[in-house]
Amino acid sequence: MTTPKPEVPRETPAASAAQPCVRVAGAGPAGLAAAIRLRLLGRDVEVHESSDRVGSRWCGGFQVLENFSEEEDILEFLKRSGVPVGFRNRPVHRVRLWDPKGIPTDFESPVSLGYCVTRGSEPGDLDHSLWEAAKALGVNVRFGSHLPASEADIYAGGPRRVDGIGREIIFDAPLEDRMSVLLDPRLSPGGYAYFFVFDGRATLGMAIVRDFKNTNRHFEEVQRRFADLEKVEIPRAQATNHHVNFFVQHGADSGPFFAGEAGGFQDYLFGFGMRFALESGILAAQSVASGGSYANRRDRMLLPKQRICLFNRFAYEKAENWIPGYFVREAVRSGDLRKYLRSWYEPRGIKIMAARMMERFWRRGNFRKNVRSLCESPHTSN
Ligand SMILES: Cc1cc2nc3c(=O)[nH]c(=O)nc-3n(C[C@H](O)[C@H](O)[C@H](O)COP(=O)(O)OP(=O)(O)OC[C@H]3O[C@@H](n4cnc5c(N)ncnc54)[C@H](O)[C@@H]3O)c2cc1C
Repeated sequence: MTTPKPEVPRETPAASAAQPCVRVAGAGPAGLAAAIRLRLLGRDVEVHESSDRVGSRWCGGFQVLENFSEEEDILEFLKRSGVPVGFRNRPVHRVRLWDPKGIPTDFESPVSLGYCVTRGSEPGDLDHSLWEAAKALGVNVRFGSHLPASEADIYAGGPRRVDGIGREIIFDAPLEDRMSVLLDPRLSPGGYAYFFVFDGRATLGMAIVRDFKNTNRHFEEVQRRFADLEKVEIPRAQATNHHVNFFVQHGADSGPFFAGEAGGFQDYLFGFGMRFALESGILAAQSVASGGSYANRRDRMLLPKQRICLFNRFAYEKAENWIPGYFVREAVRSGDLRKYLRSWYEPRGIKIMAARMMERFWRRGNFRKNVRSLCESPHTSN
């Protein structure tokens, strides 16, 4: 994995005494990106983090900072926004997709499909690196400080309820690097399973959006399946449980600006929420600094993509028995996986119109009932 040299943005205008210090809740990607951007725009910032360190939700496992939902390269976007790319990252050019029958298809993309990063509290992890960059700019991060939304200017506290569950194990694996994704609705209902190996470390996980009470059984089956498909011995390892939150935020600018997953910014299809978190944090910061409307910017710049994600999730769950096969076939036919993935996220008029209708049900809770997800209580023990 590449660990770029820590970069610190050069211009840091002195904060104006006339402007109050901006209070940000949450030192995840959204809150820290907001804090960095605010400092670069000359504002004093205080970030409150309820945990005793950054990245405490994570244990150093791999996540993918996706690079297909927008044309602009995500690392270029961060640099352009002044957010230093000091975190360890590896461009992803190869992916293996397994269909439910256990047939693999290998894809190669000349343009990176994403950047594999690690999440956690150690140097090089995304969260740690953003914290270092914020500190270097003079952001005051107060650990062990829980800031209620009512007292924050920007609230970036992460998922607020359980719409989906992720379970992972991390272990040493003396194997060749690989990025393998298994699309099988029987093993991971409404979601998928993944097995990433880089530099002898592996992350094996699954994401599901229903049948939470059988999480243990699903995860055992996922491990058995990957052991068989990838010819790998999977050691007994402590699994970690996480949750994700999908919702569409509405309303004008009363109260704090909600950024990241706390503001409903998630890729409801695959759960690639980091790009959204960084983008919405930066947008919230710009709105605070300029005194402009966040709601207007959010609705113009992020809501169309959110609506597309909502449509994608609906389609994925409604047709989940045939969609994995269709997805792989169409990706092969297109000859360009990045372009194909991008086509799923393009804000096409018809999809947006359909999503607007779905949203009404979604907000009333009927959407969730309709797709049978989210109805059962989560089982989150190991
Ligand atoms: C298993 C799993 C795998 C994932 N894989 C990927 C992936 O491969 N690619 C991808 O893009 N995304 C992935 N995601 C999603 C991604 O991790 C999240 O979307 C992203 O972390 C959201 O960032 P955030 O800043 O909004 O929130 P978080 O990263 O959750 O950070 C929120 C922070 O706020 C703190 N906090 C909460 N409330 C308060 C408060 N009131 N006051 C102060 N501090 C508070 C929390 O302690 C936390 O540190 C995955 C998620 C899961 C669960």
